[in-house]
Amino acid sequence: MIEILHAKPPAPREALEHTQLLQGEFWRKIPAYREVDEKTFLDHLWQQKHSVKTPQELLTTIGKVASSEFIEDARLGFERAPMAVRVSPYAISLIDWNDPYRDPIRTQFIPLASRLISDHPRLTLDSLHEQQDSPVPGLVHRYVDKALFLPLAVCPVYCRFCTRSYAIGPDTEEVDKVTLARTPAQWQDAFQYIAERPELEDIVVSGGDAYQLPPKNLELIGNALLDIPHVRRMRIATKGPAIMPMKLLTHPEWTDALTAIVDRGRRSGKEVVLHTHFNSPNEITWITEKAMRVLFERGIVVRNQSVLIRGVNDDPKTMRLLVKRLGHLNVHPYYVYMHDLVRGVEDLRTTVQCAIDIEKFVRGSTAGFNTPTFVCDAPGGGGKRDVHSYDFYDRENGIAVYSAPSVKPGQAFVYFDPIDKLTPEVQARWVIPEMQDEMIRAAIRNAGIQGEELVLA
Ligand SMILES: *Cc1c(COP(=O)(O)O)cnc(C)c1O
Ligand code: SF4
Repeated sequence: MIEILHAKPPAPREALEHTQLLQGEFWRKIPAYREVDEKTFLDHLWQQKHSVKTPQELLTTIGKVASSEFIEDARLGFERAPMAVRVSPYAISLIDWNDPYRDPIRTQFIPLASRLISDHPRLTLDSLHEQQDSPVPGLVHRYVDKALFLPLAVCPVYCRFCTRSYAIGPDTEEVDKVTLARTPAQWQDAFQYIAERPELEDIVVSGGDAYQLPPKNLELIGNALLDIPHVRRMRIATKGPAIMPMKLLTHPEWTDALTAIVDRGRRSGKEVVLHTHFNSPNEITWITEKAMRVLFERGIVVRNQSVLIRGVNDDPKTMRLLVKRLGHLNVHPYYVYMHDLVRGVEDLRTTVQCAIDIEKFVRGSTAGFNTPTFVCDAPGGGGKRDVHSYDFYDRENGIAVYSAPSVKPGQAFVYFDPIDKLTPEVQARWVIPEMQDEMIRAAIRNAGIQGEELVLA
């Protein structure tokens, strides 16, 4: 028998929680899905057809499982939301209907009037100024060597917190959406622009959501971009695997189209990967594991981008569980974003300090390459900045100042913590416009950003 010196004590059971995925026919506890067998539930067309889009559909689906107060709260929430509502049966069945107010999946997709709080006074609809960095419809060219291509405006679900609520989804009572290029004929301008800019090596295909592209259009886009000699890297971004993983299993034409462009890219020395968007460890079940396994066996690299959302993943243990669960499925956690300054969802944002604290807890819990970078996509078009790299952070007033020397040198970009997280005295300051200007100017002065023309974005 070997003598063991300095043995690390066995980890508590909790340390393996990330490997314990929800099993079985979990959807059958939802009244409308009680009679739904596995084959039907895994059918992506059935999932799409039964997605919940109206308060009435929500009521018929969950019936008396949720209280009538909850349904009324949701009805008023739907009315006031800047985003249209669409939730897959998969997501509906992962919500804990005994406690829907606190459920992380409910929080992401179903707005409740009772939870809404007023927006930060400095908030705009397109906070990332994507429209100002858009040379042709559907293309955002902000960084030197990479661009974002938005080929469609529909998604398999609609997230309350969507950064692109200015364009994504059908018009709502709150917002008339900007029109993106949506057809192969309309995409030609974007392809041509990319072809004419040799510095563009890296294209992100986002949206909208590539899950909703017919397989032949996914291939068309992939091939058009791979045909451009200077395009070296491509990412297909989709929320799909998080909220409708079965599509990867039951829509083989789509999965094969993805595989075809990944393979063609590999043969020509170009990287094509899938970027997905899991926010809660509860989104990951045995179905997800099976779907991700298909991609892994085909050699498709999958990375994840999460948004830090209050009540969803803004506590250290939940984030750690999410990160470890993704790693377990061979999905690399890439980014955790500060929630953008999006209209109508102030209840979902949290502070830069919260991101810093969570990052500290997560780092060291698993492989470094599976540890996400926490970033703030600088409002005003500064691009993504490591949350820690602020030039100045006024924690009291909730103002973080960033600069982006390789994106827009000499500019200051300001991120605001949600006001309800600040002290009552500070909240009172934010009511007065002159005080707002003064606090922001002081923070920018303290940041001391060097540049030719220092402007406030
Ligand atoms: C996020 C983003 C990219 C990609 O940035 P990475 O940091 O490389 O992931 C490219 N263009 C725009 C406009 C973006 O918002
Ligand atoms: S899936 Fe992505 S693009 Fe679509 S609503 Fe959600 S965050 Fe927005």
